[in-house]
Amino acid sequence: MSEKGPIQDSLSRYARQTILKEVGIEGQARLASSSVLVVGAGGLGSAALYYLAAAGVGRLGIVDYDQVSLSNLQRQILYTSADLGNNKVDIAALRLQALNPAVRTDKHQVQINAGNAQSIISGYDLVVDAVDNLPTRYIVNDACCALGKPLVEAAVSGFDGLLMTIIPGKTPCYRCLFPSPLPDEYASQVGNGIMGMVPGVIGSLEALEAIKVLLNIGSPLSGRFLSFRGLDMHFEEIILPRDPNCPACSGL
Ligand SMILES: [Zn+2]
Repeated sequence: MSEKGPIQDSLSRYARQTILKEVGIEGQARLASSSVLVVGAGGLGSAALYYLAAAGVGRLGIVDYDQVSLSNLQRQILYTSADLGNNKVDIAALRLQALNPAVRTDKHQVQINAGNAQSIISGYDLVVDAVDNLPTRYIVNDACCALGKPLVEAAVSGFDGLLMTIIPGKTPCYRCLFPSPLPDEYASQVGNGIMGMVPGVIGSLEALEAIKVLLNIGSPLSGRFLSFRGLDMHFEEIILPRDPNCPACSGL
């Protein structure tokens, strides 16, 4: 906080985004009263959490049960060499608080599963999926559909990424598009190669999608998904409809 006081500090901090007609002082106030749960504080989550905190989203939930390891540091920019062995949720919360003390952080040091997903997700306005494995992806999708929570979904592997925004009951969910599991390379980052900038790019886009949905501005990446191929620097949009028989969202 500056010596000028909290209101002036806030006006200065967000000046470059409140000047945007799509945001304004009203939009900034809406962000301050919004909450986002980021599932996974790895490569995608690092970028998404940093930008959501910087933008002034009032409350950020961080889900991760893991500790910081040396091989994380090539892409998980929330962490430094001094953090090795510490819990990711603890360090992530510290970093986000240092960046923006006005943001409240809630730590969830758990592995999200079918049994706890709905109780954790129900406390937030929107979910950003930043996990590294396929089973969790389906669990988060199904819980968001059941609760009617908007979900920004992304996956990365190698030089490539996928991104989509799900508005349950209105736009296709993850199961609508991928009723059967994605190719193996998307199943888990563990053991697979990943260029560090790729989760940075896609995680930043996740944060942008979250802000758009919270402020109800622009066109969310819904009913379509974005395929990013970094080696060719190619962005492709693929349009797909809802599945009327989707087990997760057809009844909504
Ligand atoms: Zn669906």
